[in-house]
Amino acid sequence: MTADDTIYALSSGAGRAAVAVVRVSGRDAGTVLRSLAGVLPPPRQLSLRKIADPAADVVLDEALVVWLPGPDTATGEDVAELHLHGSQAVLAAVFAALSSFAHVRPAEPGEFTRRAFLNGKLDLVQVEGLGDLLDARTQAQREQAYRQMSGSVSSIFEDWRNQLLRIRADIEAAVDFGDEPGVAEEAAGRIDLRIEALTAELIQHQAASATAEVIRQGIRIVLAGRPNTGKSSLLNALARRDAAIVSSIPGTTRDSIEVSLDLQGFPVTLTDTAGLRSVGADPIEDEGIRRSRKHVEAADIVLWVASPDILGSETVEPGIVPDLMIINKADLYGSDCQDSSAPSALLTVRTSAVSNTGVAELLEKLMQIVLGRFGLTEPALLVTERQRTVTNRSIELLTQARNLPPTALELRAEVIRHAADQIGRLTGRTDVEEWLGEIFSRFCIGK
Ligand code: GDP
Repeated sequence: MTADDTIYALSSGAGRAAVAVVRVSGRDAGTVLRSLAGVLPPPRQLSLRKIADPAADVVLDEALVVWLPGPDTATGEDVAELHLHGSQAVLAAVFAALSSFAHVRPAEPGEFTRRAFLNGKLDLVQVEGLGDLLDARTQAQREQAYRQMSGSVSSIFEDWRNQLLRIRADIEAAVDFGDEPGVAEEAAGRIDLRIEALTAELIQHQAASATAEVIRQGIRIVLAGRPNTGKSSLLNALARRDAAIVSSIPGTTRDSIEVSLDLQGFPVTLTDTAGLRSVGADPIEDEGIRRSRKHVEAADIVLWVASPDILGSETVEPGIVPDLMIINKADLYGSDCQDSSAPSALLTVRTSAVSNTGVAELLEKLMQIVLGRFGLTEPALLVTERQRTVTNRSIELLTQARNLPPTALELRAEVIRHAADQIGRLTGRTDVEEWLGEIFSRFCIGK
Protein backbone atom coordinates (compact mmCIF):
# COMPACT_ATOMS: atom_id res chain seq x y z
CA MET A 1 0.00 0.00 0.00
CA THR A 2 1.51 3.28 -1.07
CA ALA A 3 0.56 6.91 -1.54
CA ASP A 4 0.91 6.31 -5.29
CA ASP A 5 -1.99 3.87 -5.32
CA THR A 6 -5.27 4.91 -6.80
CA ILE A 7 -7.91 4.81 -4.06
CA TYR A 8 -11.66 4.43 -4.08
CA ALA A 9 -14.47 4.62 -1.55
CA LEU A 10 -18.15 5.19 -1.11
CA SER A 11 -18.34 8.93 -0.53
CA SER A 12 -22.05 9.19 0.15
CA GLY A 13 -23.71 7.79 3.28
CA ALA A 14 -23.86 4.05 3.86
CA GLY A 15 -27.07 2.06 3.53
CA ARG A 16 -29.81 1.68 0.97
CA ALA A 17 -30.22 4.90 -1.01
CA ALA A 18 -31.38 6.24 -4.36
CA VAL A 19 -27.85 7.18 -5.31
CA ALA A 20 -24.46 6.09 -4.01
CA VAL A 21 -21.43 8.13 -5.02
CA VAL A 22 -18.17 6.22 -5.40
CA ARG A 23 -15.06 8.33 -5.80
CA VAL A 24 -11.84 7.15 -7.35
CA SER A 25 -8.71 9.28 -6.95
CA GLY A 26 -5.17 8.81 -8.23
CA ARG A 27 -3.12 8.40 -11.37
CA ASP A 28 -5.17 5.43 -12.66
CA ALA A 29 -8.59 7.06 -12.14
CA GLY A 30 -8.91 7.77 -15.89
CA THR A 31 -7.93 4.23 -16.89
CA VAL A 32 -10.38 2.79 -14.37
CA LEU A 33 -13.23 4.97 -15.62
CA ARG A 34 -12.49 4.13 -19.25
CA SER A 35 -12.46 0.40 -18.45
CA LEU A 36 -15.74 0.51 -16.54
CA ALA A 37 -17.69 3.09 -18.52
CA GLY A 38 -16.16 3.32 -22.00
CA VAL A 39 -14.64 6.38 -23.66
CA LEU A 40 -13.82 9.13 -21.14
CA PRO A 41 -16.62 11.69 -21.04
CA PRO A 42 -15.73 15.40 -21.47
CA PRO A 43 -14.18 16.72 -18.20
CA ARG A 44 -16.57 17.99 -15.51
CA GLN A 45 -19.73 16.88 -17.27
CA LEU A 46 -22.19 14.31 -16.04
CA SER A 47 -22.67 11.49 -18.57
CA LEU A 48 -25.02 8.53 -18.37
CA ARG A 49 -23.08 5.30 -18.92
CA LYS A 50 -23.44 1.57 -18.54
CA ILE A 51 -20.97 0.36 -15.91
CA ALA A 52 -19.51 -2.98 -16.95
CA ASP A 53 -17.06 -5.32 -15.28
CA PRO A 54 -14.22 -5.39 -17.81
CA ALA A 55 -13.07 -8.86 -16.74
CA ALA A 56 -16.46 -10.57 -17.12
CA ASP A 57 -17.99 -8.27 -19.71
CA VAL A 58 -21.15 -8.01 -17.61
CA VAL A 59 -23.17 -4.81 -17.12
CA LEU A 60 -23.31 -4.01 -13.40
CA ASP A 61 -25.40 -0.84 -13.35
CA GLU A 62 -26.27 2.30 -15.24
CA ALA A 63 -24.83 5.41 -13.66
CA LEU A 64 -23.99 9.05 -14.09
CA VAL A 65 -20.24 9.38 -14.25
CA VAL A 66 -17.92 12.39 -14.02
CA TRP A 67 -14.34 12.66 -15.14
CA LEU A 68 -12.33 15.26 -13.19
CA PRO A 69 -8.74 15.48 -14.41
CA GLY A 70 -6.23 16.82 -11.88
CA PRO A 71 -4.77 18.96 -10.55
CA ASP A 72 -7.85 21.14 -10.30
CA THR A 73 -9.79 18.64 -8.17
CA ALA A 74 -10.59 18.16 -4.48
CA THR A 75 -7.58 15.88 -3.96
CA GLY A 76 -5.36 17.51 -6.59
CA GLU A 77 -5.22 14.15 -8.41
CA ASP A 78 -7.23 12.73 -11.30
CA VAL A 79 -10.67 11.89 -9.94
CA ALA A 80 -13.57 9.85 -11.30
CA GLU A 81 -17.00 9.70 -9.74
CA LEU A 82 -19.67 7.05 -10.27
CA HIS A 83 -23.20 7.98 -9.20
CA LEU A 84 -24.57 4.46 -8.87
CA HIS A 85 -27.86 3.04 -7.68
CA GLY A 86 -27.43 2.80 -3.93
CA SER A 87 -27.90 -0.88 -3.20
CA GLN A 88 -25.50 -3.19 -1.42
CA ALA A 89 -25.36 -5.54 -4.41
CA VAL A 90 -24.48 -2.80 -6.91
CA LEU A 91 -21.77 -1.46 -4.60
CA ALA A 92 -20.35 -4.92 -3.93
CA ALA A 93 -20.13 -5.65 -7.67
CA VAL A 94 -18.54 -2.29 -8.51
CA PHE A 95 -16.06 -2.53 -5.61
CA ALA A 96 -15.09 -6.03 -6.77
CA ALA A 97 -14.50 -4.70 -10.28
CA LEU A 98 -12.46 -1.77 -8.92
CA SER A 99 -10.25 -3.95 -6.77
CA SER A 100 -9.37 -6.12 -9.76
CA PHE A 101 -7.18 -3.31 -11.15
CA ALA A 102 -3.51 -3.30 -10.19
CA HIS A 103 -2.50 -0.46 -7.82
CA VAL A 104 -6.15 0.37 -7.09
CA ARG A 105 -7.36 -0.20 -3.53
CA PRO A 106 -9.97 0.93 -0.98
CA ALA A 107 -9.15 4.26 0.69
CA GLU A 108 -8.10 4.51 4.32
CA PRO A 109 -10.21 6.74 6.59
CA GLY A 110 -9.49 10.39 5.73
CA GLU A 111 -7.18 9.46 2.85
CA PHE A 112 -8.90 11.69 0.27
CA THR A 113 -8.53 14.66 2.63
CA ARG A 114 -4.94 13.73 3.45
CA ARG A 115 -4.11 13.78 -0.26
CA ALA A 116 -5.87 17.14 -0.61
CA PHE A 117 -3.65 18.45 2.22
CA LEU A 118 -0.45 16.98 0.80
CA ASN A 119 -1.27 18.45 -2.63
CA GLY A 120 -1.86 21.91 -1.14
CA LYS A 121 -5.63 21.92 -1.77
CA LEU A 122 -6.47 22.39 1.89
CA ASP A 123 -4.36 23.68 4.77
CA LEU A 124 -4.52 22.11 8.21
CA VAL A 125 -7.03 24.61 9.58
CA GLN A 126 -9.31 23.85 6.64
CA VAL A 127 -8.89 20.13 7.24
CA GLU A 128 -9.91 20.58 10.88
CA GLY A 129 -12.83 22.74 9.77
CA LEU A 130 -13.93 20.08 7.29
CA GLY A 131 -13.79 17.43 10.05
CA ASP A 132 -15.88 19.61 12.32
CA LEU A 133 -18.33 20.39 9.53
CA LEU A 134 -18.89 16.69 8.91
CA ASP A 135 -19.50 16.22 12.65
CA ALA A 136 -21.66 19.34 13.06
CA ARG A 137 -24.98 18.67 14.76
CA THR A 138 -26.14 22.22 15.37
CA GLN A 139 -26.13 25.51 13.50
CA ALA A 140 -23.57 27.14 15.80
CA GLN A 141 -21.23 24.21 15.14
CA ARG A 142 -21.85 24.43 11.39
CA GLU A 143 -21.09 28.17 11.30
CA GLN A 144 -17.89 27.79 13.29
CA ALA A 145 -16.70 24.83 11.22
CA TYR A 146 -17.50 26.49 7.92
CA ARG A 147 -15.49 29.59 8.90
CA GLN A 148 -12.44 27.37 9.46
CA MET A 149 -12.99 25.33 6.33
CA SER A 150 -13.51 28.33 4.05
CA GLY A 151 -9.93 29.53 4.45
CA SER A 152 -10.82 32.97 5.85
CA VAL A 153 -9.36 32.06 9.25
CA SER A 154 -6.20 30.69 7.63
CA SER A 155 -5.51 34.02 5.94
CA ILE A 156 -5.53 35.74 9.35
CA PHE A 157 -3.04 33.17 10.67
CA GLU A 158 -0.90 33.76 7.59
CA ASP A 159 -1.01 37.48 8.28
CA TRP A 160 0.31 36.90 11.82
CA ARG A 161 3.14 34.84 10.41
CA ASN A 162 3.99 37.48 7.84
CA GLN A 163 4.06 40.16 10.52
CA LEU A 164 6.55 38.05 12.47
CA LEU A 165 8.71 37.47 9.41
CA ARG A 166 8.78 41.23 8.75
CA ILE A 167 9.72 41.93 12.37
CA ARG A 168 12.53 39.42 12.09
CA ALA A 169 13.76 40.98 8.84
CA ASP A 170 13.75 44.42 10.48
CA ILE A 171 15.73 43.12 13.45
CA GLU A 172 18.29 41.63 11.09
CA ALA A 173 18.53 44.94 9.23
CA ALA A 174 19.19 46.66 12.57
CA VAL A 175 21.97 44.16 13.32
CA ASP A 176 23.79 45.44 10.24
CA PHE A 177 23.84 48.93 11.73
CA GLY A 178 24.55 47.65 15.24
CA ASP A 179 27.98 49.27 15.45
CA GLU A 180 26.65 52.80 15.18
CA PRO A 181 25.93 54.20 18.65
CA GLY A 182 22.25 54.14 19.70
CA VAL A 183 20.98 52.51 16.52
CA ALA A 184 20.38 49.08 18.03
CA GLU A 185 18.52 50.56 21.01
CA GLU A 186 16.33 52.71 18.87
CA ALA A 187 15.48 49.88 16.48
CA ALA A 188 14.79 47.56 19.42
CA GLY A 189 12.36 50.11 20.87
CA ARG A 190 10.33 50.27 17.67
CA ILE A 191 10.40 46.52 17.21
CA ASP A 192 9.26 45.99 20.81
CA LEU A 193 6.11 47.97 20.14
CA ARG A 194 5.25 45.75 17.20
CA ILE A 195 5.97 42.58 19.18
CA GLU A 196 3.79 43.85 22.00
CA ALA A 197 0.90 44.68 19.67
CA LEU A 198 0.95 41.25 18.06
CA THR A 199 1.32 39.48 21.41
CA ALA A 200 -1.71 41.35 22.72
CA GLU A 201 -3.69 40.29 19.65
CA LEU A 202 -2.75 36.64 20.09
CA ILE A 203 -3.59 36.73 23.80
CA GLN A 204 -6.97 38.24 23.02
CA HIS A 205 -7.78 35.48 20.54
CA GLN A 206 -6.53 32.88 22.96
CA ALA A 207 -8.93 34.20 25.60
CA ALA A 208 -11.86 34.19 23.17
CA SER A 209 -11.20 30.61 22.14
CA ALA A 210 -12.79 29.00 25.21
CA THR A 211 -16.19 29.79 23.74
CA ALA A 212 -15.26 28.10 20.48
CA GLU A 213 -14.21 24.96 22.33
CA VAL A 214 -17.56 24.86 24.09
CA ILE A 215 -19.39 25.14 20.75
CA ARG A 216 -17.24 22.37 19.37
CA GLN A 217 -17.66 19.96 22.28
CA GLY A 218 -21.09 21.01 23.49
CA ILE A 219 -22.10 23.04 26.53
CA ARG A 220 -22.17 20.89 29.65
CA ILE A 221 -25.22 21.58 31.79
CA VAL A 222 -25.74 19.63 34.97
CA LEU A 223 -28.86 19.12 37.08
CA ALA A 224 -27.73 18.85 40.69
CA GLY A 225 -29.60 18.73 43.97
CA ARG A 226 -30.77 16.49 46.81
CA PRO A 227 -32.23 13.09 45.93
CA ASN A 228 -35.90 12.96 44.92
CA THR A 229 -36.28 16.63 44.07
CA GLY A 230 -37.26 15.61 40.52
CA LYS A 231 -34.04 15.95 38.52
CA SER A 232 -34.63 12.88 36.33
CA SER A 233 -38.23 13.89 35.81
CA LEU A 234 -37.12 17.37 34.72
CA LEU A 235 -34.51 15.94 32.38
CA ASN A 236 -37.20 13.86 30.72
CA ALA A 237 -39.56 16.82 30.54
CA LEU A 238 -36.85 18.96 28.92
CA ALA A 239 -35.86 16.24 26.46
CA ARG A 240 -39.42 15.91 25.27
CA ARG A 241 -39.84 19.60 24.37
CA ASP A 242 -39.84 20.55 20.72
CA ALA A 243 -37.75 23.59 21.55
CA ALA A 244 -34.96 21.29 22.64
CA ILE A 245 -34.43 18.80 19.88
CA VAL A 246 -32.94 15.68 21.38
CA SER A 247 -30.45 13.97 19.14
CA SER A 248 -29.61 11.03 21.35
CA ILE A 249 -30.32 9.58 24.76
CA PRO A 250 -27.32 7.42 25.53
CA GLY A 251 -27.55 5.49 28.77
CA THR A 252 -24.30 6.28 30.56
CA THR A 253 -23.31 5.15 34.01
CA ARG A 254 -25.65 4.20 36.78
CA ASP A 255 -25.09 7.50 38.50
CA SER A 256 -26.05 9.85 35.69
CA ILE A 257 -28.12 10.09 32.54
CA GLU A 258 -27.22 12.35 29.66
CA VAL A 259 -29.26 13.82 26.84
CA SER A 260 -28.03 15.90 23.94
CA LEU A 261 -30.07 18.98 23.23
CA ASP A 262 -29.96 21.57 20.52
CA LEU A 263 -30.72 24.91 22.16
CA GLN A 264 -31.27 27.25 19.23
CA GLY A 265 -28.15 26.03 17.50
CA PHE A 266 -26.04 25.52 20.60
CA PRO A 267 -25.14 21.91 21.31
CA VAL A 268 -25.84 21.01 24.90
CA THR A 269 -25.18 17.91 26.95
CA LEU A 270 -27.59 17.86 29.87
CA THR A 271 -26.64 15.51 32.68
CA ASP A 272 -28.83 14.38 35.51
CA THR A 273 -26.62 13.51 38.45
CA ALA A 274 -27.26 11.22 41.37
CA GLY A 275 -28.62 13.22 44.26
CA LEU A 276 -26.11 14.91 46.51
CA ARG A 277 -26.36 14.23 50.22
CA SER A 278 -23.89 13.61 52.95
CA VAL A 279 -21.52 10.78 52.31
CA GLY A 280 -21.39 7.69 54.49
CA ALA A 281 -24.63 5.75 54.08
CA ASP A 282 -23.82 3.25 51.37
CA PRO A 283 -20.55 2.74 49.46
CA ILE A 284 -22.30 2.49 46.06
CA GLU A 285 -24.22 5.66 46.72
CA ASP A 286 -21.04 7.37 47.95
CA GLU A 287 -19.41 6.55 44.62
CA GLY A 288 -22.42 8.03 42.81
CA ILE A 289 -22.12 11.18 44.87
CA ARG A 290 -18.41 11.44 44.18
CA ARG A 291 -19.09 11.21 40.44
CA SER A 292 -21.89 13.75 40.70
CA ARG A 293 -19.47 16.22 42.23
CA LYS A 294 -17.08 15.63 39.34
CA HIS A 295 -19.87 16.33 36.86
CA VAL A 296 -20.70 19.54 38.69
CA GLU A 297 -17.05 20.62 38.72
CA ALA A 298 -16.70 20.00 34.99
CA ALA A 299 -20.00 21.68 34.11
CA ASP A 300 -20.29 24.96 32.24
CA ILE A 301 -23.72 25.62 33.76
CA VAL A 302 -25.12 24.17 36.99
CA LEU A 303 -28.84 24.00 37.71
CA TRP A 304 -29.76 23.33 41.34
CA VAL A 305 -33.07 21.52 41.74
CA ALA A 306 -34.99 21.88 44.99
CA SER A 307 -38.51 20.87 45.91
CA PRO A 308 -40.70 21.84 48.87
CA ASP A 309 -41.29 18.25 50.02
CA ILE A 310 -37.57 17.57 50.48
CA LEU A 311 -36.55 19.41 53.61
CA GLY A 312 -33.58 21.74 53.21
CA SER A 313 -33.23 20.90 49.51
CA GLU A 314 -32.99 24.58 48.60
CA THR A 315 -29.77 24.87 50.60
CA VAL A 316 -27.05 24.54 48.02
CA GLU A 317 -24.18 22.18 48.78
CA PRO A 318 -21.08 24.12 49.92
CA GLY A 319 -18.66 24.71 47.06
CA ILE A 320 -21.34 24.61 44.37
CA VAL A 321 -22.37 27.86 42.73
CA PRO A 322 -25.47 27.25 40.64
CA ASP A 323 -26.40 29.44 37.69
CA LEU A 324 -30.10 28.78 38.17
CA MET A 325 -32.29 27.57 41.03
CA ILE A 326 -35.20 25.37 40.01
CA ILE A 327 -37.98 24.96 42.53
CA ASN A 328 -39.70 21.84 41.27
CA LYS A 329 -42.99 20.16 42.22
CA ALA A 330 -44.85 23.45 41.89
CA ASP A 331 -48.04 21.38 41.81
CA LEU A 332 -47.52 20.48 45.47
CA TYR A 333 -47.70 23.98 46.82
CA GLY A 334 -50.29 26.72 46.43
CA SER A 335 -49.57 30.15 44.97
CA ASP A 336 -49.65 31.66 48.50
CA CYS A 337 -46.40 30.05 49.58
CA GLN A 338 -44.52 30.28 46.33
CA ASP A 339 -41.71 32.43 47.56
CA SER A 340 -40.91 30.53 50.71
CA SER A 341 -37.84 28.64 49.62
CA ALA A 342 -36.02 30.41 46.81
CA PRO A 343 -32.86 32.31 47.74
CA SER A 344 -33.49 35.76 46.29
CA ALA A 345 -30.03 36.36 44.84
CA LEU A 346 -30.32 33.47 42.42
CA LEU A 347 -32.11 33.35 39.11
CA THR A 348 -35.06 31.14 39.98
CA VAL A 349 -37.67 29.26 38.02
CA ARG A 350 -40.60 27.24 39.29
CA THR A 351 -41.53 24.05 37.55
CA SER A 352 -43.62 20.95 37.80
CA ALA A 353 -42.21 18.01 35.97
CA VAL A 354 -45.50 16.21 36.57
CA SER A 355 -47.86 18.80 35.08
CA ASN A 356 -45.18 20.18 32.74
CA THR A 357 -45.68 23.73 33.96
CA GLY A 358 -42.72 26.11 33.96
CA VAL A 359 -40.68 23.87 31.65
CA ALA A 360 -40.95 26.33 28.74
CA GLU A 361 -39.83 29.11 31.10
CA LEU A 362 -36.95 26.94 32.30
CA LEU A 363 -35.81 26.44 28.70
CA GLU A 364 -36.06 30.16 28.07
CA LYS A 365 -33.95 30.97 31.15
CA LEU A 366 -31.42 28.35 30.10
CA MET A 367 -31.24 29.96 26.68
CA GLN A 368 -30.61 33.35 28.32
CA ILE A 369 -27.75 31.92 30.35
CA VAL A 370 -26.28 30.16 27.30
CA LEU A 371 -26.49 33.28 25.14
CA GLY A 372 -25.09 35.48 27.92
CA ARG A 373 -22.14 33.15 28.37
CA PHE A 374 -21.51 31.82 24.87
CA GLY A 375 -23.37 34.05 22.43
CA LEU A 376 -20.59 35.28 20.24
CA THR A 377 -20.12 38.92 19.56
CA GLU A 378 -17.19 38.11 17.36
CA PRO A 379 -16.44 34.63 16.06
CA ALA A 380 -13.43 32.95 17.62
CA LEU A 381 -10.47 32.16 15.37
CA LEU A 382 -8.77 29.48 17.43
CA VAL A 383 -11.09 26.54 17.87
CA THR A 384 -9.10 23.35 18.37
CA GLU A 385 -6.83 22.31 21.21
CA ARG A 386 -4.02 22.03 18.65
CA GLN A 387 -4.53 25.60 17.48
CA ARG A 388 -4.52 26.86 21.06
CA THR A 389 -1.38 24.92 21.97
CA VAL A 390 0.55 26.26 18.99
CA THR A 391 -0.61 29.84 19.64
CA ASN A 392 0.35 29.52 23.29
CA ARG A 393 3.88 28.50 22.36
CA SER A 394 4.10 31.45 20.04
CA ILE A 395 2.93 33.83 22.78
CA GLU A 396 5.58 32.40 25.13
CA LEU A 397 8.28 32.97 22.52
CA LEU A 398 7.14 36.51 21.83
CA THR A 399 7.21 37.25 25.55
CA GLN A 400 10.70 35.76 25.73
CA ALA A 401 11.82 37.94 22.80
CA ARG A 402 10.38 41.03 24.44
CA ASN A 403 12.26 40.33 27.67
CA LEU A 404 15.68 40.08 26.03
CA PRO A 405 18.04 43.02 26.54
CA PRO A 406 17.67 45.61 23.74
CA THR A 407 21.16 44.92 22.44
CA ALA A 408 20.61 41.17 22.00
CA LEU A 409 19.32 41.70 18.47
CA GLU A 410 20.55 38.46 16.93
CA LEU A 411 19.07 36.36 19.69
CA ARG A 412 15.84 38.26 19.38
CA ALA A 413 15.66 37.59 15.64
CA GLU A 414 16.14 33.90 16.33
CA VAL A 415 13.35 33.75 18.92
CA ILE A 416 11.00 35.62 16.58
CA ARG A 417 11.81 33.10 13.85
CA HIS A 418 10.74 30.30 16.20
CA ALA A 419 7.54 32.19 16.97
CA ALA A 420 6.83 32.54 13.23
CA ASP A 421 7.44 28.79 12.82
CA GLN A 422 4.88 28.08 15.52
CA ILE A 423 2.28 30.24 13.80
CA GLY A 424 3.19 28.52 10.53
CA ARG A 425 2.20 25.26 12.16
CA LEU A 426 -1.37 26.50 12.52
CA THR A 427 -2.04 26.14 8.81
CA GLY A 428 0.57 23.43 8.34
CA ARG A 429 3.21 25.54 6.62
CA THR A 430 5.90 24.30 8.96
CA ASP A 431 6.62 21.04 10.67
CA VAL A 432 3.27 19.45 11.39
CA GLU A 433 4.09 15.76 11.10
CA GLU A 434 3.22 15.14 14.76
CA TRP A 435 -0.39 16.32 14.28
CA LEU A 436 -1.28 14.56 11.05
CA GLY A 437 -2.12 11.11 12.39
CA GLU A 438 -4.48 12.50 14.99
CA ILE A 439 -6.20 14.94 12.66
CA PHE A 440 -6.86 12.52 9.81
CA SER A 441 -7.89 9.63 12.05
CA ARG A 442 -11.11 11.55 12.82
CA PHE A 443 -12.34 11.21 9.26
CA CYS A 444 -14.47 8.39 7.97
CA ILE A 445 -13.65 6.29 4.92
CA GLY A 446 -14.60 8.14 1.77
CA LYS A 447 -13.58 11.55 3.06
P1 GDP B 1 -34.39 12.78 41.37
O1 GDP B 1 -33.96 11.80 42.40
O2 GDP B 1 -34.08 14.17 41.79
O3 GDP B 1 -33.94 12.46 40.00
O4 GDP B 1 -36.00 12.74 41.37
P2 GDP B 1 -37.00 11.96 40.43
O5 GDP B 1 -37.17 12.64 39.14
O6 GDP B 1 -36.66 10.52 40.43
O7 GDP B 1 -38.36 12.20 41.22
C1 GDP B 1 -38.51 11.80 42.58
C2 GDP B 1 -40.01 11.65 42.88
O8 GDP B 1 -40.64 12.91 42.74
C3 GDP B 1 -40.72 10.74 41.88
O9 GDP B 1 -41.67 9.99 42.57
C4 GDP B 1 -41.39 11.68 40.91
O10 GDP B 1 -42.56 11.15 40.35
C5 GDP B 1 -41.71 12.86 41.81
N1 GDP B 1 -41.74 14.12 41.10
C6 GDP B 1 -40.81 14.60 40.23
N2 GDP B 1 -41.17 15.80 39.78
C7 GDP B 1 -42.37 16.10 40.37
C8 GDP B 1 -43.26 17.21 40.29
O11 GDP B 1 -43.06 18.22 39.60
N3 GDP B 1 -44.39 17.13 41.06
C9 GDP B 1 -44.67 16.07 41.83
N4 GDP B 1 -45.80 16.10 42.54
N5 GDP B 1 -43.87 15.00 41.93
C10 GDP B 1 -42.72 15.00 41.20
